[in-house]
Amino acid sequence: MEDRTICPEHEEELKLFCVTDQRFVCIICKHGDEHRGHRIKPVMDAAKPCKEDLIRALEFLSGESRELNVMISEQTAEISKAQVKSEDLLSQISADFQAIHNYLWNKEKAIKTQLEMKEGEMLKNLSVLEDRLNEVTESQQLLTSAVEMEDPAGFLQWWADGGLLQVETLKVEVSSGDTQSDASDSTTKFKSRVEGLRVAPNILTLGPYESMCPILVWRDMLESLKEVSRCSATMDPKLKLSLSQNAVRVPEGRNVFSRFQRSHNGYSQRKMENLREGQYYWEVDVREEPGWEHGLTVRYYPQQETSSAWEWLFSEQYKTIRVLLKSEGVYVVNGTEEVQLNVEIVPRRLGMYLNCEQEQISFCNADNMSIIHTVWCENK
Ligand SMILES: [Zn+2]
Ligand SMILES: [Zn+2]
Repeated sequence: MEDRTICPEHEEELKLFCVTDQRFVCIICKHGDEHRGHRIKPVMDAAKPCKEDLIRALEFLSGESRELNVMISEQTAEISKAQVKSEDLLSQISADFQAIHNYLWNKEKAIKTQLEMKEGEMLKNLSVLEDRLNEVTESQQLLTSAVEMEDPAGFLQWWADGGLLQVETLKVEVSSGDTQSDASDSTTKFKSRVEGLRVAPNILTLGPYESMCPILVWRDMLESLKEVSRCSATMDPKLKLSLSQNAVRVPEGRNVFSRFQRSHNGYSQRKMENLREGQYYWEVDVREEPGWEHGLTVRYYPQQETSSAWEWLFSEQYKTIRVLLKSEGVYVVNGTEEVQLNVEIVPRRLGMYLNCEQEQISFCNADNMSIIHTVWCENK
């Protein structure tokens, strides 16, 4: 059995280590030609720096491992936060669409009910006519059976027992004169069972709903949505659409945004608006308004105390966030940073969504409501 501590060549103990060759040597090897000029150390001394090197490497690795573990638990936390948010958003979208479905369903039902009521009037008239016909037919049958009686005595018996009364009820009441003694009077008038009745004509119509139903429903819906969300039109008419949603909770921070538009001679306070809480969405036509980028610019004031809109506008402490259209494409400016966005189609109409509570700004292509870019103002 080979002993690793013994030099196979000189049978001496391998007490030394040649650092140059990175192998064990014995005292005789050390003086041989093979290791002339090599760095040779006792095993203990040679091992020490190697071990130190190894420990440094290990420390580096455990540092990296710690860092990765922290990142993994942070990522896991972010994922579970996202899952909670995703569930919230999904149920919110379901509720929103349920409200839309309900609105449409109720509208459809109301219009159909109108139609059914009009149809119902005709059906009701038909049943009046049928009831009247039944009355007439009943009398007809009764009188027919009497007129066919062959036996005069039997007939008179019937006449006296109620036949006379039956015939009298068919006649128009006469206030004077003896009607009983002169039954055959040719001037006798009978009560009409047809007079006062009419055929209800087909007048079914839904008016404008008949041919313009979709657009009228859309309009009604927009009106009702405006009421529900208390949307208000603000700013310049050049903002084609401007919606706002009141805050659910009042934020404690002092972070605020402002949006504004530039007029020909500089800034106009009339077109300046501070947005402290709530959610806003507005759109501008990119093609029609060359100064459109001002409509899609907001300023973010991270540490600003309450002050007037005018003071804010010229405050030093703000960050401008805007979307720019250049010939080569669409750019987003966030403070001093300008980044070209990967947008396939240059939008004709741009929308900006601002959420004060989340300090979030999203730019959209308003034609299809796809999100082009989102800026989170706080570190996120
Ligand atoms: Zn040796
Ligand atoms: Zn050597």
